[in-house]
Amino acid sequence: MADAMIEARLYNKRANKQVACHLCAHFCVINCGERGLCGVRENRDGILYSLVYGHTIAHHVDPIEKKPLYHFYPGSRSLSIATPGCNMHCHWCQNAGISQVPRDLKFPVGDAMSPEQIVVAAQKSGSRSIAYTYTEPTIFFEYSLDTARLAQDAGIANVYVSNGYMTAEMLDLVHPYLDAANIDLKSFRDPTYRKYAGARLQPVLDSLKRLHGLGVWLEVTTLVIPGINDDLQELKELAEFIVSELGRDTPWHISRFYPQYKLNQLPPTSSATITQAVEAGRAAGLNYIYVGNMGVDGDTLCPACRASLIQRRGYDIRRNRIVKQNCCPDCGQRVAGVAMAGG
Ligand code: SF4
Repeated sequence: MADAMIEARLYNKRANKQVACHLCAHFCVINCGERGLCGVRENRDGILYSLVYGHTIAHHVDPIEKKPLYHFYPGSRSLSIATPGCNMHCHWCQNAGISQVPRDLKFPVGDAMSPEQIVVAAQKSGSRSIAYTYTEPTIFFEYSLDTARLAQDAGIANVYVSNGYMTAEMLDLVHPYLDAANIDLKSFRDPTYRKYAGARLQPVLDSLKRLHGLGVWLEVTTLVIPGINDDLQELKELAEFIVSELGRDTPWHISRFYPQYKLNQLPPTSSATITQAVEAGRAAGLNYIYVGNMGVDGDTLCPACRASLIQRRGYDIRRNRIVKQNCCPDCGQRVAGVAMAGG
């Protein structure tokens, strides 16, 4: 059985048994006996340990659309796993119960599950991919990396659903095994990241550009929250960044906020605001824009002739008309994505 506590990757030893972690952009310097900001990497006697290896707090078989990834093996299943902990502290977190772990939490937590067992579970469930999701895959990097290697050998794809706050060093190690990622771009304003997520904007932008440059299939999600990141100029700049740095074929998932966690006092995002965000994305030139949490169906349209190619009802695919080599059957235009053709 996998041990919950293994020596961490990507850190340096310093004088006086201090360690410096460079797994994520916080670059924590951690004194002996203390943990990093994520709460799941601990300095014991001058050695940094991951406390969450080999134990999952959540594992479910989800439609890949739930990640959300709409242009990556549409209609397939994805075995989705998480450990506790996160390196951001978003006031709107939907999974705060497992991401924001108490500082004094004793590990291990959750079900023991070795990387081998995860891959077998993926095979048994008919999953096309394994998604590292719900919390933040960066903070369970060692576990996800070992699992991803085995999964790749077994012909199963690997997907990160992430806040994008990892370092370039981490991406260099994981990207050979990573097939797709959905990255949250929570705001296009650094003060918003600092105030509401305890992080900075630039490292997220750097990760997005790096993932794109490394050829990992990329989709971007933005939860639009009233009074926090719903300024039209900000949404325009965010959409223009996607087009200019990641390409107009990068799908953008615009998600509606509902009151939760520390933002219970806010109203849900209005449909007018969501419509403005969609228009900002269209004006910037994005080819694929989807709306989440609105009860509307996110059909995939041909970027050339606008024919409906994938018809969805919630996370279910009712019809997929895309033909071999990801082409529109009506005009022949290629549709961006991985294995998009219907069966
Ligand atoms: S992974 Fe954790 S310990 Fe390492 S730099 Fe990030 S928050 Fe700090």
